[in-house]
Amino acid sequence: MKVHFETERLLIRPLEPSDAEAAFRWCGDPRVNTYMIYPLYHRVEDVRAWLEGRDADDPDNYDEGIVLKATGELIGSGGMRYHRERNAWEIGYNLRADQWGHGYTGEYLTALMDVIRRSRPIEAIDGIFAAENSKSRRVMEKLGMVWVRDTGYEKLDHSETFAAKYYRRNLPQPAELCDICGRIEQTRAGRNPYFVRELETGWVVLGDHQRFEGYTLLLCREHATELSQLAPDFRAAFLRDMALTAEAVESVFRPDKLNYELLGTGRARHMHWHIYPRREGDTPKPGPVWQVPDLNDDRWRPSAEKLAEMREALGQELDRLCGK
Ligand SMILES: [Zn+2]
Repeated sequence: MKVHFETERLLIRPLEPSDAEAAFRWCGDPRVNTYMIYPLYHRVEDVRAWLEGRDADDPDNYDEGIVLKATGELIGSGGMRYHRERNAWEIGYNLRADQWGHGYTGEYLTALMDVIRRSRPIEAIDGIFAAENSKSRRVMEKLGMVWVRDTGYEKLDHSETFAAKYYRRNLPQPAELCDICGRIEQTRAGRNPYFVRELETGWVVLGDHQRFEGYTLLLCREHATELSQLAPDFRAAFLRDMALTAEAVESVFRPDKLNYELLGTGRARHMHWHIYPRREGDTPKPGPVWQVPDLNDDRWRPSAEKLAEMREALGQELDRLCGK
């Protein structure tokens, strides 16, 4: 996409074929190229050919020129590209070597995220960098990204392969986009009467409608859609918290069986566990709870007194299981 905007120290604008000479100062610099997948450029004409041949209007790709306001010089390029299969924006950039170490990349990418968000949501940002490239690691850490897994990549011409790190940041969505984030905000502000306990990876809340007595949810602290989007340690802790919540529900509400379901809500699909205590003959025909037509009927809202009682019992049991 072609965008124009300013940050404190930078002017962001589309790259043009006439930028070839300026761009050659990083495209042709072995220091900048060390960890890049594209081969080193040896001629300005080849940079111009690249600039002429690229699709600058791709709505899933923001690859812009970075101009230093103080001097008017084009000092680098890059941006973010959307990857549909992982619903994430991957960051990428090149900066002239004499401009490293001033935080320009972070300044640009932070502002770019705001620009993209005006037209579409950003649920996650991703970055892959060579394990030995500590400069890129610092850029990603400053953007709030954390290690997800080790990986590797190869230069396009197969001349070299690198051990690499895959970093990610899942971004909370504005409450109007995500019911669950909205509910979490309400809980944090002490305005959710269904709130039971805060665990390491999320919030335990009772369901609004108690057609199945003891119906409880665990809202994931991260605005993520799938378990695969969570960092391994966090994911393991999230699953542990789910098992713990289920155990507390089981011992307080004494069902014949628990149903566990990890669902998302609305467009934002913020995952959350539904834990439904099930009892013999509790649905018109055997099967999941969703067949019940009045599942969310207001007559299943517990009274304030009943709610307080359930909250108390479940909270105490969670405390006991957590060793508190
Ligand atoms: Zn959310």
